[in-house]
Formats: sequence, structure tokens, C-alpha cells
Amino acid sequence: MRILVTGGAGFIGSHLCESLLLDGYQVIAVDSLLTGRLGNIRHLLTHPFFRFIEQDVTQGIDIEADAIFHLASPASPVGYRQYPIETLLVNSVGTYHLLELARRVRARFVFASTSEVYGDPLIHPQREDYFGNVNPIGPRSCYDEGKRFGEALTMEFVRSFGVDARIARIFNTYGPRMDPADGRVVPNFIVHALTGEPIEIFGDGMQTRSLCYISDMVRGLRLLMERDGLAGTVINLGNPDERTILELAYLVRELTGNPVPIVFRPARPDDPGRRCPDISRARAVLGWEPRVPVEEGLRMTIDYFQDVLARAAAFDE
Ligand code: NAD
Ligand code: UDP
Repeated sequence: MRILVTGGAGFIGSHLCESLLLDGYQVIAVDSLLTGRLGNIRHLLTHPFFRFIEQDVTQGIDIEADAIFHLASPASPVGYRQYPIETLLVNSVGTYHLLELARRVRARFVFASTSEVYGDPLIHPQREDYFGNVNPIGPRSCYDEGKRFGEALTMEFVRSFGVDARIARIFNTYGPRMDPADGRVVPNFIVHALTGEPIEIFGDGMQTRSLCYISDMVRGLRLLMERDGLAGTVINLGNPDERTILELAYLVRELTGNPVPIVFRPARPDDPGRRCPDISRARAVLGWEPRVPVEEGLRMTIDYFQDVLARAAAFDE
């Protein structure tokens, strides 16, 4: 069984590749390294069942595969602000090329969508049948609308051509191999606490997020691919343990044992006020729910960033 993972050198993609290789699959990772890093997959490069292709998927791709996970896309607000056009293109043109490939080689397909399709949601928790509240022209729209277009295209390939495609709406996911500089809340808070800098909160810190540990996310994505009879199914994957950003800041200070100051900065424009997945469908259809409590996942992530910082310090000496 040959599995293509676009975005395979990214945070989620690299863990997914590793997990698939452990179970004996052949894995082809395609990545342009726009926001990902070769370092995430360096340990896999010598694996006999692993192949890495450095390529931009918006240019089209021709590879034999039995299953395709399409994860390529900038994912952090800082990342997609830096690469807004690339974000729109990889989720539209890139998704089109990959769906055409899935159609041609009869591969099963999973599109990595996002909770951002719900925008700044007006219902809580968010269920899959909620249409969302998205600003189509705001600073986040390159991501939100790019993913919404990708979802629409995926569904058209299911309806028009019978492609066996499924959509994962991924909620905030964290863990080792996150880019310390990508601006997301978990790396920012941990790196600041570990280096003794103040933790910066955008807004009043009352906005919420629900954090899913990477191993849970990989298990959910794989189940979504593996289960039969799910063509055209959209599923929320995320941890329903909803916390305010301020709570998260206190938790990171406590777990790192470093009570750095907390400072408040202006809120990011269009920053969603509340986000929490309703995972009833994932429970019913996939038998999936997260297993790793946020305190435990954060501890493992803190250990990872401690190592990264120690290695960087040793390199500087
Ligand atoms: P990431 O930035 O670490 O990984 C994305 C990878 O895609 C990177 O390696 C990047 O180089 C690659 N890429 C971008 N454009 C490309 C292109 N045109 N061609 C080939 N490769 C390209 O991000 P991540 O957190 O691992 O996210 C993976 C996927 O999951 C994304 O589609 C993202 O939208 C989705 N997602 C992630 C989260 C999260 O919390 N991490 C939440 C919701 C959705
Ligand atoms: N955030 C923050 N300080 C930071 C980084 C993020 O207060 O250093 C907030 C951000 O404004 C948002 C939440 O944390 O409300 C999650 O932000 P992130 O960039 O991780 O992803 P998002 O869920 O917005 O896509």
C-alpha cells in the first residue's frame, strides 16, 4: 500500500509519515518546504519505504498511490499572513491537482481542512452542520476561504466523479516538531516561558481554544482514511477540552516552573472568540476521541522545546 502525504515535512505531516511507516506502509512525502522543515523528516530519509520529493503541489503531481493525505498548506496565522497567495493556491489549485490524481489512480483521499471554516463561530461547540461565520475579505480569509474552496472542490469530486474523498476539520493541534517561530500559541508561550521572556496575550485572553495532542490527531486522520464507506464525510477532529488563552498561559507557567510576566497586546483582527469541536460524529463514525490530557501533552511539548533550545545553545557556544 503506497500512501502519498502532501505537507509531509510539516508538523502534522511528519508525524503522520512516521506513524504510517511504523505500520509497514510505503510513504511518499511531497513538500515544497514553504513552512515545513527537512529536519522534521531527516530521520526518515534512510528508511527503505520512505521517499521524499521536494515539490510545490500547485504545479501538479503524477505519482502512483493508493491513498492521498493532502496536508500541504501554511497553517499558522503568522504563516498564512506571510504567504497569503500561496495559501489560497495550495488549497485551491493544489487540491484540484491532487483530486485529479486521486480520480486517475483511484486513490482514497483525505483533505486536511480546519476549524477556521467556522470563522468566528456563533454556535458552541461547533458541529459539522454549522456553516460558519467567516469574513471573506479579512486578513484570515486567505486561509479560511482557501480551505472552504478546498472543501467545496473535494465534495464536487465525490459527487461528480465518485472519488472516495473525506474531509477532516482539524482543530488546534500541538506537540513536538512545531516550529518555535511560527507564532502559534503553544510554541510562543512555551518558548517565552523557557527563555524567561514575558508571555504575550493578544486581546484580553478570554478567547478560547481546544488543544489536541499530535498523536491523537494522527490516529484520527488515519481512522478517517481507513474506515470504509465514508466518501463525502466531513468530520471534526479536535479535543473538546476548551480553555481560555489566559488559562493556558497560567498552565504553561506552572508546567515550566517559570512564572514569567504576562503582558497584554492588541487583539489580532478577526481572532475567533471561542472555538471548541463537537466530536459526536468522530466518536460515532470513527470510534475516535482524544486520549492525551492537555497537561500531559504540554509536558511532552515542553520537554521537546527544552531540547531544541539546549541544542541551539550548544551550537552557539
Ligand atoms: P505545517 O506548516 O507544519 O505543515 C504544512 C506543510 O505544507 C509544510 O511542510 C509546508 O512546507 C507544506 N506546503 C505548503 N505549501 C505547499 C505547496 N504548495 N506544495 C507542497 N508543500 C507545501 O502545518 P501543520 O500544522 O502541519 O498543518 C498541516 C495541515 O493541517 C494544513 O493543511 C493545515 O491547514 C491543517 N491544519 C492544521 C492545524 C494545526 O493546529 N496544526 C489546525 C487546522 C488545520
Ligand atoms: N495568541 C496569543 N499569544 C501568542 C500567540 C497566540 O495570545 O503569542 C492567541 C491568538 O490571538 C489566538 C490564540 O492564541 O486567540 C490561538 O492562536 P494561534 O496563532 O495558535 O492559532 P489560531 O487558533 O488563531 O489559528
